[in-house]
Amino acid sequence: MFVFVVVNLYLKTWTWTVLVIIIFVQITCAGCGQKSASLQDFSGEEFIMNTLVRVHVICEDEKKGRAALKQAFDVFKKIDHLTNRFPEGGPTASSPGDVLKINGSAGLEPVEVSVDTVRIIQRSQYFARLTGGAFDITIGPVMDSWGFGKDIQYVPTDEEISRALSLVDYRKVEVDPGKATVFLPQPGMSLDLGGVAKGYAMDEAVKALREAGIQHALINAGGSVYALGTRPDGEPWRVGIQDPRNSEDIIAILSLKDSAAVTSGDYQRYFEQEGVYYHHIIDPSTGKQARDLIQTTVIAESTTDADILSTALFVLGPRRGMSFVEELPGTEAVLIGPDKLVSVTAGLINQLTFTGDGGYQIAS
Ligand code: AMP
Ligand code: MG
Repeated sequence: MFVFVVVNLYLKTWTWTVLVIIIFVQITCAGCGQKSASLQDFSGEEFIMNTLVRVHVICEDEKKGRAALKQAFDVFKKIDHLTNRFPEGGPTASSPGDVLKINGSAGLEPVEVSVDTVRIIQRSQYFARLTGGAFDITIGPVMDSWGFGKDIQYVPTDEEISRALSLVDYRKVEVDPGKATVFLPQPGMSLDLGGVAKGYAMDEAVKALREAGIQHALINAGGSVYALGTRPDGEPWRVGIQDPRNSEDIIAILSLKDSAAVTSGDYQRYFEQEGVYYHHIIDPSTGKQARDLIQTTVIAESTTDADILSTALFVLGPRRGMSFVEELPGTEAVLIGPDKLVSVTAGLINQLTFTGDGGYQIAS
């Protein structure tokens, strides 16, 4: 039996929207054959990292399944604590996480951080260099100037943007992996790991599931999906890519096995001022919204990489984005422009089925 699961990214503030990805999950094992006849689906959902995290674990033993679920959610909570710039209780919360500490010590001193934080920053820096700074985790001051993460968002003046931009430069971040320290040399600099932390958390959660002996699982965290193994019947998991302009519809279905699909979109977090929509993916070369794409989806074995790249490609736009990603081994992408033209990497053609809905056209 197939169950159609629609996963909503619940609104934390009114600017935070909406549905990200739709998944077809084979919940029970009718038709799975004898081998998997005793398999059961254990699922749970929790609101973590400002998003609804939903985990399906499929195994034969209830105790094992429930313990694995808990481990997966614990991983998300741990990474959220390390990376969240705006934790509940504010920055003076009793045990500040790594990003709060790093940002609080900008211009003062290096901060000792966890191995996870070092890994997230190092991978982000790798792709920052590769994309010429399209992905830049020092984007914090610019995000602040637009009010993202705060209660009120507004369009900053050009002067406010250029002041914030003078604090953005990934090349200035000093990471010492031996000592596990991170230093932002200029006062006012701040890291924002919003474009990568969820992907990293997903990879760590998958690692925990694998270590717990889980062979079939699906994790969905607001736009990021990881398919562990196959469905119980041996077929790949099927994941829908949302229509960026109609959250009820999907434009294509992906087949996934032991890989991640991460979507970035201009509809995931935005505000409106005087009839113009301002979203949360910023081009670090201008300090303003990247507007050449409305949605990007990246498929890769690593959810961390797919998360970084979905944001990076959004900034690079269709032309530079496509030529960049076509050169990356093991990485595929679907890019959608405001004109509803869809660009797909060559290696993805056999993994993708278009629904034909929504008037989207494949770019020639
Ligand atoms: P995602 O939904 O993964 O595309 O991530 C978007 C989030 O990444 C934003 O909410 C910001 O926290 C952060 N961000 C925005 N622009 C950039 C950028 N150019 N480079 C790195 N992170 C960014
Ligand atoms: Mg991302």
